[in-house]
Amino acid sequence: MIACQVDELRGKLKEIFGFSNFRGNQEEIINNLLSGRNTFVLMPTGAGKSLCYQLPAIISEGTAIVISPLIALMKNQVDQLNAFGVNARFMNSTLNKTEMRRVKEDTLSGAVKLLYVAPESLTKEENIEFLGQANISFAAIDEAHCISEWGHDFRPEYRKIKSIVGQFGDIPIIALTATATPKVQLDIQKNLQMEEADVFKSSFNRKNLYYEIRPKVDVKKQLIRFVKEQKGTSGIIYCLSRKKVEEIAELLRVNDVNAAPYHAGLDGALRMKHQDGFLNEDIDVIVATIAFGMGIDKPDVRFVVHYDAPKSLEGYYQETGRAGRDGLEGKCILFYTLDDIIKLEKFNKDKPVTERETAKLLLEEVSSYAESSVCRRKQLLHYFGEEYMDPDCSEQGLCDNCAHPKEIFEGMGFIEHVINAAIKTEERFGIKHLVNVIRGIESQYVKSYNHSKLDIYGIGKDETEVFWRSVVRQTLLNEFLAKDIENIGILKVTAKGHDFLKKP
Ligand code: ADP
Ligand code: MG
Ligand code: ZN
Repeated sequence: MIACQVDELRGKLKEIFGFSNFRGNQEEIINNLLSGRNTFVLMPTGAGKSLCYQLPAIISEGTAIVISPLIALMKNQVDQLNAFGVNARFMNSTLNKTEMRRVKEDTLSGAVKLLYVAPESLTKEENIEFLGQANISFAAIDEAHCISEWGHDFRPEYRKIKSIVGQFGDIPIIALTATATPKVQLDIQKNLQMEEADVFKSSFNRKNLYYEIRPKVDVKKQLIRFVKEQKGTSGIIYCLSRKKVEEIAELLRVNDVNAAPYHAGLDGALRMKHQDGFLNEDIDVIVATIAFGMGIDKPDVRFVVHYDAPKSLEGYYQETGRAGRDGLEGKCILFYTLDDIIKLEKFNKDKPVTERETAKLLLEEVSSYAESSVCRRKQLLHYFGEEYMDPDCSEQGLCDNCAHPKEIFEGMGFIEHVINAAIKTEERFGIKHLVNVIRGIESQYVKSYNHSKLDIYGIGKDETEVFWRSVVRQTLLNEFLAKDIENIGILKVTAKGHDFLKKP
């Protein structure tokens, strides 16, 4: 491949995409790839990863393969490129025989600059053979975190990419992702055998996003009020289940919000209609499962609401990242309750042990993020291996914890009560019962287990239920108590918890 003159690259950027300047390190990345080097790009959602392979593909000879996990995402990008006058195509299960033949012919003739391929199509023998005959300039692997089991959407077919791409000659690979935990990064590089690749990691800080966690109480009322306050701007509401998606979309509609549902269970045409409607501003609010949004490029999403807890902070960060791509304000609201985390843990109960453990750790990160009173931005960036030192968030109140700093109180005595309550009830109960015992509430369980006889019973009657629940959470966050994965909902005292009692 040819390395391009600075002016030439910039000229093409303007000519084809209409942009006057590169963003962040796009230019370096493009030059690196054009000089034939393997390139690894870690950039937050909305920062402009696509351009890093689109522009080199256009100016290189031959066809670049773009491996991308979602058909909707491919279609979106191919449509955009075609509108710019670029010959881009896709190859996936939606094509019929004739369409497939035409794509292949045009690729072999060298007309196609970018060929988007679904991983499932890439692994098909006949397609490998065909691609082997084409003049491939390089391979781009978008959403590369799909390679890692530690990514939030692992795709087994992604693991085969390297061995297949290796058959198309000595072509450079560019891998791109917005998931940058050190673990995922390592997995990607190992699997693609590109440990030697040049890594371009941008800051993951999204300055224009406001992060807020709200307690999930009266959530429907809160949601309606919040959405109404946004006055018809575009927003996404994520729910965990299809059923919930339907329910919330309906709830918003009867409250005069122009909302529509999106989930994998909807009829394909309807789903597409809702997605297009959202992109074209016919629909203000899309209520969706996480199936919605990967790679969807809508610049003016003004809010992203997590109605239910996300399964991981990676997922949360990607999803919230869909707000404010245009650099203007984006509000990210998460409605949080520990019950959601417990529910998600229950879903994992039948998974194989390692998968379950992974899922559990990811969930713990979510709950400690949500329950912490530390700057959200600081926590998120720390999670992605980046230290956030700017004073901006605390000075400008760009997250709820910076906008309304919480009083921090010394809770040693309270923590002791919680650990004691767990021990005296023989570590056989969950948060609800522990709180009832401490507060002296005579529930069914308290009666049948005779727990009103315990010395700890009613010791914390002056404090509210919400207060004690938050103390229990703090003991979990600090690992004095741990959730028992075999018996969901039950809290056990850890070694650290026993040590704490001996020496608080
Ligand atoms: P990512 O894949 O990193 O989430 P995209 O590639 O979808 O992000 O780009 C996000 C938005 O940024 C798109 O609307 C894109 O057109 C825009 N964009 C990318 N590069 C530039 C640039 N150099 N100047 C202006 N806008 C850009
Ligand atoms: Mg992208
Ligand atoms: Zn902050």
